[in-house]
Amino acid sequence: MYERILHTWEMLDARAIVQIAILAVAIFFLLQFLGRSRGMGVVRAFGLVVVGMFLSAQILVSIFNLTVVGRILDYLLATMLLALLVIFQPELRRGLMWLGKYGVLYAITSSSKRPIVDKLSDAAEVLAGQFVGALIAIEREIPLTVYVETGTRVDAEVSPLLIRAIFQKQSPLHDGAMIVSNGRIVAAGCQLPLSPIEVSSKNLHGMRHRAALGTSEETDAILLVVSEETGRITLASAGQLEVVPRENLSRRLAELLESNSTHVREIKEKVNKNQEADRVA
Ligand code: ATP
Ligand code: MG
Repeated sequence: MYERILHTWEMLDARAIVQIAILAVAIFFLLQFLGRSRGMGVVRAFGLVVVGMFLSAQILVSIFNLTVVGRILDYLLATMLLALLVIFQPELRRGLMWLGKYGVLYAITSSSKRPIVDKLSDAAEVLAGQFVGALIAIEREIPLTVYVETGTRVDAEVSPLLIRAIFQKQSPLHDGAMIVSNGRIVAAGCQLPLSPIEVSSKNLHGMRHRAALGTSEETDAILLVVSEETGRITLASAGQLEVVPRENLSRRLAELLESNSTHVREIKEKVNKNQEADRVA
């Protein structure tokens, strides 16, 4: 036995010392990170006992050449790693969220318009399920500033919860339209221009749908309407209304937002003409 201990001691060359030092530093930082987190108590008790037992067992295995016990310890190590994954699942999730926040996963997994489309669709689906009416105008090239001024400025990140809160009946801002511009909610409770034509379809005859249609005729904005009466979701663009099934909403909304607005030039010419007429008058 003494020979084996002596042999192990002799095997401790510079390379082994460097490896031990690297492991020690890694374990030190790991414990520091975990020490700051929720798993602190668990790590102190579980971690110290298990690591101590594991190291003693490894020394015994190498001294007495216990191959079977060594193999069992290898299996145990794999199980322990799995246990650590489960115990520190919140910390791991936080780490992944951090990666997402700083653009590493974000760049790989999504196109720039995707998250906003998903948030708007999520909110619309819930509101539709609750038969809560909503009207959201998403600005593109033509500014919606004149309509923003008719409502209350918000300037908040697009969030499904905030959208749902604003359109609840008890909310003082639920009446009128919400305007989204450059990825932010800029205003709520806004008055949009009504389409002069009565919307012909039997179920789409009210003011909300007429305002959506009117705005899509006057501007290149995309409008999302949730009907309080029917729970249906309708999208308006370029003077057209289309009822969209919930499961297709985010795909269709993304398509419309990415499509070229064909009637932008017409609208701009119309706006310029109106401005000239105003100046002459
Ligand atoms: P729903 O299917 O939800 O009933 P609708 O098309 O039948 O919609 P109305 O029932 O007339 O429309 O909805 C009235 C609501 O529409 C108002 O409470 C208001 O919130 C909104 N609204 C009406 N006119 C405008 C407007 N010019 N701009 C923005 N929102 C408007
Ligand atoms: Mg109605």
